[in-house]
Amino acid sequence: MASDRRAERQAALRALLDEDGLDGLLVQHLPNIRYLTGFSGSAALLLVRPDGCILISDFRYAAQAEQEVGDLARVEIDQVNVWQRLRRLLAERPPALLGYEAHIATVRDAERLSAATPGRLAPTQDRVERLRAAKSADEVEAIRAAAALAEAALDETLPEIRVGQTEFEIAALLEAALRRRGSEWHPFPTIVASGPRSALPHARTSPRTLGRGEWLLLDFGAQVGGYCADLTRTVVVGAAADERQRSIYDLVRTAQDRALRHLRAGMSGRDADALARDLIASRGFGEAFGHSLGHGLGLEVHEAPRLSRTVDDPLPVGAVVTVEPGIYLPGWGGVRLEDDVHLAAEGPECLSGNRTELLELA
Ligand code: ZN
Ligand code: ZN
Repeated sequence: MASDRRAERQAALRALLDEDGLDGLLVQHLPNIRYLTGFSGSAALLLVRPDGCILISDFRYAAQAEQEVGDLARVEIDQVNVWQRLRRLLAERPPALLGYEAHIATVRDAERLSAATPGRLAPTQDRVERLRAAKSADEVEAIRAAAALAEAALDETLPEIRVGQTEFEIAALLEAALRRRGSEWHPFPTIVASGPRSALPHARTSPRTLGRGEWLLLDFGAQVGGYCADLTRTVVVGAAADERQRSIYDLVRTAQDRALRHLRAGMSGRDADALARDLIASRGFGEAFGHSLGHGLGLEVHEAPRLSRTVDDPLPVGAVVTVEPGIYLPGWGGVRLEDDVHLAAEGPECLSGNRTELLELA
């Protein structure tokens, strides 16, 4: 880690807890635990207290937890289960008012927690997520690296794409290139949608065969150092684009370009969304752009903040967000273009190449 901000993040969280009058917070959401401690395993609870953090994990992660967390938290390994250890820790030193992540905890978790703590419980919402929304320089660099990797994998894959391949085959080519180039995992299931299926904004990749002159929509991600990039490109395969394809594509591209140029930290999610939506709607395609303009990117592929008609909160300085307008016409097809943008104090900085000229693959 180029500059280790974990202690600083924990201090910022403690200041928030103090404002809320909490003398402890149980963090369950694994990306939040990773952000605060560096632990990247799949089973842990983190008890944050005014005087320190305790990470509880199980046998599988004994060595990994010590190595990743170092002295940023006391590590406790329970041979049976993490909740049993939490119960013991809370009984030894009960917090008077313990916060928990109400947006993450299941009903069963809340029941276990209330049985385990002699003190009172307070539901909290997005405490750590709000800290995560503003990225440090290291986090921005990790996302930039993930975006560069994703684009290089796409460049490698595009010349291999042929009419007659199935969506599955195309996804396999792209995913192999992503992994070969060092993507830690696919942060979400790769979307390869051909022909009319490109009108499904969240299509599931299928065995459909790509036809000549059809749209091919590729929505894919890469992960570097735990941080995600998320890109979408839409291309025509096997023929030149027809007039309608070209005009819809140009509209989406112009709308995206407008948003990329005018997006600023401090704008509300609603105003950001309108940058692209107003143009698309003014040309009569408002109904065909049914999702929001973008979402935050970081340790998760969908995180705060959201660029959406329903969000009045300002976009924080330092956020990294996607800008992904689309037009979807059932039966005909759809176009979406997605790039990743850092909202620096001095203005937006595109972390992905934004190479969105219309590609007509041979
Ligand atoms: Zn995407
Ligand atoms: Zn996205």
